[in-house]
Amino acid sequence: MTDFETILYERPADKVARIVLNRPEARNAQSMRMLYELNDAFDRAAQDDSVSVIILAANGPHFSAGHDLRETDALEVVTEHERVGTWCGFGCAGAQSQMAVEKEMYIGLSERWRNLPKPTIAAVQGKVIAGGLMLVWPCDLIVAADDALFQDNTVSMGVAGAEFFNHPFEVGVRKAKEMLFTSDFLTAEEVHRLGMVNHVVPLDELHSHTLQLASRIAEKPLFALRLAKEAVNVAQDNQGRVNAMQTSFAYHQLCHSHNQQVHGMIIDPGFMAKTFGTKAGAGS
Ligand code: ZN
Repeated sequence: MTDFETILYERPADKVARIVLNRPEARNAQSMRMLYELNDAFDRAAQDDSVSVIILAANGPHFSAGHDLRETDALEVVTEHERVGTWCGFGCAGAQSQMAVEKEMYIGLSERWRNLPKPTIAAVQGKVIAGGLMLVWPCDLIVAADDALFQDNTVSMGVAGAEFFNHPFEVGVRKAKEMLFTSDFLTAEEVHRLGMVNHVVPLDELHSHTLQLASRIAEKPLFALRLAKEAVNVAQDNQGRVNAMQTSFAYHQLCHSHNQQVHGMIIDPGFMAKTFGTKAGAGS
């Protein structure tokens, strides 16, 4: 059994696995190590035939502050790690290495988790910022605590939306534009009304409610669950999701490249100081 540093892997009930983000001191900002560990844990749960449903949860007051922008060895960690996708060019100059990292770690992993052949449920509390959405949205169901707040603030960073660009499919076209244009937080109640989350529950009932839901689903035949998931995913993909996401990912890389040329860094330099001071985690 692998030892994880940044997450916990639990079996809280029969046929249910729970993966818990465990960097509460960093508001669960996603380092490259955390993303790889998360991927290993998802693989473990997916390949374990005694698991039918996977819960993704987080320790601490906030689900995730997004990608860990202050991580200094991100490229080294990714370069040295065994590839999980098919992309290459990690050590190349110019925009290539940035695109390679984001193709593997961001859109690549989120897409991979979205297509895991078992039901997944996100249990979400506190703030879910930018890259945080890229952990929550790939899950099949989302249970939100009443204090949950959702934000994509990438436009404030000079980037045209998070890498896993599912916004129009999650909250509808108009709200997708508003959340991107304003960088405002959406409340649990609001995203429930928009159909982005399945349930809103009191914070102290988040984990019991999610576990109960997972256990009820886990009683069903797994092959039927797997194919029901596939059927809905195929329906969504036939609405243009994959093409839309490929286009937005290209725009996202164009923004990073533009910022690099104009500002010498991949996001607008005013963002970190203005929004987060010296604190970790914001998502890009
Ligand atoms: Zn990016």
